[in-house]
Amino acid sequence: MSTDEAVALLREAGLRVTPQRVAVLKALAAESHPTAEGILARILPEYPGTGLATVYNTLAALARRGRVLAIASPEGRRYDLRTEAHQHVRCRRCGRVEDLPEWPGAAWVHTVLPAGWSAEGWQVMVEGLCDTCRSVAS
Ligand SMILES: [Zn+2]
Ligand SMILES: [Zn+2]
Repeated sequence: MSTDEAVALLREAGLRVTPQRVAVLKALAAESHPTAEGILARILPEYPGTGLATVYNTLAALARRGRVLAIASPEGRRYDLRTEAHQHVRCRRCGRVEDLPEWPGAAWVHTVLPAGWSAEGWQVMVEGLCDTCRSVAS
């Protein structure tokens, strides 16, 4: 993500543009589904005074405005610039999270609900071992 793109995204979300917020977005774009701590670690060399609260607040504000997707994981919330519905796979050894290239459509969800419920959205996190960890696992 370029600086211009980050600035545009912040403006579209109605957020004040600051160098730290631009750095948060660029760090988010540079990694697959990072945590707030991961983003902070990436921007600290350039912005040593940045606190975790700044990162959290920026991500929360973008998530509220539908510009960033927040995903629950055992490491805490992970963030995603891809906001349309999609599902994830997580490596139980290294914690890496990636998008599932394909997922069956919405129909299956309605077959697993308790009687009387309706579904409006869901998140699936498939657990397993990534290609790297599988190759070192014995
Ligand atoms: Zn792994
Ligand atoms: Zn994703």
